[in-house]
Amino acid sequence: MKDVAFTADELRRRADRLPRVPLAHVPTPFEELPRFAGRIGRVRVFVKRDDCTGLLFGGNKVRHSEFLLGDAVSLGADVIVWGAGIQSNNCRVTAAACARLGLECRLYLSRSTHTPEVQGNLLLDHLVGAKVELVDAKMGPELYAVFDAEAAKLKAAGRKPYRWDPARTLPRAAVSYVVAAAELADDIERAGVSPAAVYVSSSASTGAGLALGMKALGRSWPVRSVGYIRWPWDVPTEMARCANDAAELLDLPHRFTPAEIHYTDEQIGADYGRLSPAGREAAHLLASSEALLLDPVYTARAVAQLIADVRSGRVPAGSAVVFVHTGGTPAVFAYAEEMLG
Ligand SMILES: *Cc1c(COP(=O)(O)O)cnc(C)c1O
Repeated sequence: MKDVAFTADELRRRADRLPRVPLAHVPTPFEELPRFAGRIGRVRVFVKRDDCTGLLFGGNKVRHSEFLLGDAVSLGADVIVWGAGIQSNNCRVTAAACARLGLECRLYLSRSTHTPEVQGNLLLDHLVGAKVELVDAKMGPELYAVFDAEAAKLKAAGRKPYRWDPARTLPRAAVSYVVAAAELADDIERAGVSPAAVYVSSSASTGAGLALGMKALGRSWPVRSVGYIRWPWDVPTEMARCANDAAELLDLPHRFTPAEIHYTDEQIGADYGRLSPAGREAAHLLASSEALLLDPVYTARAVAQLIADVRSGRVPAGSAVVFVHTGGTPAVFAYAEEMLG
């Protein structure tokens, strides 16, 4: 059975029915990168500037936060319990959104991910007034258990905590990228191209939301999610689940199987939070040709994959590709030595 296609306006209307707080500067710019394209092959390259979503250096988490913090506010939360790596963009943007909304923000950051120097995202967490604690728990289930325990303590003390809980937060974050897909489809149409692929750094909700959005809009451009971390679960299975949960929130009939999620872990390399040689090359090429910054953990990997696919011919000569820049740029200051290589 062929899926029905929805208009961009219809997707936006459905998203507007969910609790949401306005935080992002949108629509973000859509630009062509001719000098960069000339350095990598016979292709046209376009960038969706979601590094320019406005709030405290921007990035994809600003779009996510509109729905996550909207959910928290609608539930009457007075304290947000969040966490990830020491240089987490997610935590920096959540802390910024909390400052805007007058919510207390508690961050539990996994020590194993980076040096604890107060730089980049960690510096910004402190500046916007988050309460930061470094913990030994590893990224993923171990850290989620910390959030559960801290939220339970706060609750016992009479507070109303809202915590990072993947089953609840990931589909809502994905909804924000269904809305972004509607924006991006308009950009692509205006540019008059039909991209061979849309590249994005994602092992979770951003790629799932974009893929769902494109499917719901009836667009066949593949969304290629480039992984940055080895989760202890099958990523395409979880991304499909995330897309399907988001479809349910939006009352859309579209569903995904794991095989329909275009995910690659080729760029992950040694470990989460380390800049790979291909990532470093990508960051230098883009900075020196277009003065466009990539972050060391996420976007450098996505562009490294884009470059690899152009060079290998997987992206045919003469075609166009789109890179969704998900931000993360404050991390460059915490990775100065690795960035210079
Ligand atoms: C968090 C993040 C991503 C990945 O987001 P997912 O939740 O995995 O989709 C990509 N890029 C940057 C800069 C990020 O901060």
